[in-house]
Amino acid sequence: MIKFLDIQRITASFEPQLSAEVQRVVSSGWYLLGEEVAKFEQAFAEYCDSTHCVGVANGLDALTLILMAWREMYGWDEGDEVIVPANTYIASILSISRAGLTPVLCEPDEENALMDATQFPRLMTLRTRAIMPVHLYGQVCDMDAIRTFARQHGLKVVEDCAQAHGALHRGTRVGALGDAAAFSFYPGKNLGALGDGGAVVTSDRLLARIVRKLANYGSQEKYVHLSKGINSRLDEVQAAVLSVKLARLDADNDRRRQIARRYIRQMTNPLVRTPHVSSWLGHVFHLFTVRCERRDELQKHLAEKGVQTLIHYPIPPHKQEAYAEWSHLSLPITERIHREVLSLPISPVMTNDEVQCVIDAVNSFE
Ligand SMILES: *Cc1c(COP(=O)(O)O)cnc(C)c1O
Repeated sequence: MIKFLDIQRITASFEPQLSAEVQRVVSSGWYLLGEEVAKFEQAFAEYCDSTHCVGVANGLDALTLILMAWREMYGWDEGDEVIVPANTYIASILSISRAGLTPVLCEPDEENALMDATQFPRLMTLRTRAIMPVHLYGQVCDMDAIRTFARQHGLKVVEDCAQAHGALHRGTRVGALGDAAAFSFYPGKNLGALGDGGAVVTSDRLLARIVRKLANYGSQEKYVHLSKGINSRLDEVQAAVLSVKLARLDADNDRRRQIARRYIRQMTNPLVRTPHVSSWLGHVFHLFTVRCERRDELQKHLAEKGVQTLIHYPIPPHKQEAYAEWSHLSLPITERIHREVLSLPISPVMTNDEVQCVIDAVNSFE
């Protein structure tokens, strides 16, 4: 059986260094707010072509903290609006709600499933404050169009980079393409910890300082609380793990691209549409997502051939009970994408034989 993602094999590929680093931090007796996090923050900010990185507990917190900080800095009111893709993982949208702001759903581009800036004029109101592009599946959004619109209307841009560590846009990394960026280090991401983790990346020094404060109970000085913050930290063990894995991220992303290239070239089944790639360096293939009108049959066929697949995502956010207030909304592009997508196995540790097996399985679907 070819697993959708063999995390055990990924972890093993970093041994023995990974366990040695974990053991070193365990022995040190220092587990939070220490040197390992500071070291990783600096390395990751540099990796992202940016200047500041704040390690936090997870990707959802990273997004939420950026929005909380902007509310504090700019006095945004409760219910002010943030434009977000309608077809993203629900965490992007939850972060907006959690910060006391209102998510405004944006239909994606039909071809690449990414944020479509031509929709913005229709969605803008007097209360729009920010845009949240999501580099979905690992592919960079059309940041030129998004930034131009944001600049013209005085909006902030927060990148959701949870699926796109290391992707490039005209030679610059994601994380440095907007005013701030959020990353997740959930184990299955391209840069994954051995548990939860996340980071805020920005070149805005004041924003970084306020995020750090809000993530530390609203405190910059022990027992002095300036705002109603939360507790959201990246821990020392995870930071040490991430430092080891960061060193191989570019090579891992190259291997993902190499597999994707083979998939795209060799999957010739007319019933299955492989992804549209506008720039190879702009895609790190966190997911290799194909489209098929008979998606459920394709998934069953692949399972019978021993290929495990997943659906990202089966239910669109506006059809979730959590957002019952949107149940009347009709978003045809988003809904069609959710009906048709299927994610195939892709990871830096897949063998060429496994890649060939997936290709043959897809091509044999009738
Ligand atoms: C994984 C993910 C998140 C959330 O990250 P967590 O660390 O799981 O909180 C946010 N946005 C997108 C697009 C994601 O894929």
